[in-house]
Amino acid sequence: MQATPQGLYCVPGDFFVDPARAVPRAVITHGHSDHARPDHGAVLATPATLAIMRARLGEERAGHRQQALVPGESLKVNGVGVRLVPAGHVLGSAQVVLDWQGSRVVVSGDYKRRRDPTCDLFEPVECDAFVTEATFALPVFHHPPAAAEVARLLESVRLFPDRAHLIGVYALGKCQRVIALLREAGWDRPIYMHGALMALCQLYEQLGVKLGELRPVPAVVKRGAGQLAGEIVLAPSGAEATPWVRRLAEPLICAASGWMRVRQRAKARGVELPLIISDHADWDELLQTAGDVAAPDIWVTHGREDALVHALGTRGIRGRALHLIGRGEEDEAEEPLSDAQPGASSGEPPLAEQPAGEAGA
Ligand SMILES: [Zn+2]
Ligand SMILES: [Zn+2]
Repeated sequence: MQATPQGLYCVPGDFFVDPARAVPRAVITHGHSDHARPDHGAVLATPATLAIMRARLGEERAGHRQQALVPGESLKVNGVGVRLVPAGHVLGSAQVVLDWQGSRVVVSGDYKRRRDPTCDLFEPVECDAFVTEATFALPVFHHPPAAAEVARLLESVRLFPDRAHLIGVYALGKCQRVIALLREAGWDRPIYMHGALMALCQLYEQLGVKLGELRPVPAVVKRGAGQLAGEIVLAPSGAEATPWVRRLAEPLICAASGWMRVRQRAKARGVELPLIISDHADWDELLQTAGDVAAPDIWVTHGREDALVHALGTRGIRGRALHLIGRGEEDEAEEPLSDAQPGASSGEPPLAEQPAGEAGA
């Protein structure tokens, strides 16, 4: 494997994994836009990731030729064995297991180790070199159980029946996971959605993830009359700073992100109820995974490389920062302080009122 300006390149297989620019042949770990770029020649990914790419990028730009590889099955590309194994990050997310001449590299993409009702659990695969993210690679980052965070949300809804609870979420993954967690916690009322979130929720449903009744947030009928008191509303992070928020009755601003561990960040964003719900591994999960995959070499793609490389060194593991370009732009890996313009970097308009805006069709 080579770290090139376009991204990780498998030399004998002649393909890239999650390249930052259009390339002739790409294996894609998951549908977040910092991993799934448009206009590749050939794209190999799980069926769900291919569907997500088509929905977000449009049929024409989601890869000139798409090839689906079902998790667990393998194929050979120029003599390199390629297998996709669940990464537990978002629907369709997979680690790329590469076997060549008796050695194995696993490129994990983004991952977490917690159970997630919207996607398959991460499966550790022993390997010679493991490529990991490091979004939350500091000991301060410990994600509590997601169910406990959702319980805090429902308690707040009960305490403040005159207010609409507005939760800022990422459109792909976090949104659907929060909905599924609410359903597991027994919230069976309709959940209200910003228009920009609808298309991917519908796709999740089509792909077999049940989300219950979702409704668009209605436009304001009477000026100054906020609606949906006592209800739960989901919107892209940043929507609370737009005129759209006037539709809601005394909105209580919540955000669901691993960054909510940091009180100042929640404060800077005006978040009243921070929910620590992350789709990325926390510090303990990163180190647990390093042990589980038993790789003597670990390459770190994006996040807090230094802290992780140091901690791996004390465990006798050779860590190396890859400094890949263009990572962490779209999902939770993004610095939340730049959330005022969500989606700006990916060219997507998540704040558009029309669902078609997010679908990018
Ligand atoms: Zn991601
Ligand atoms: Zn990422």
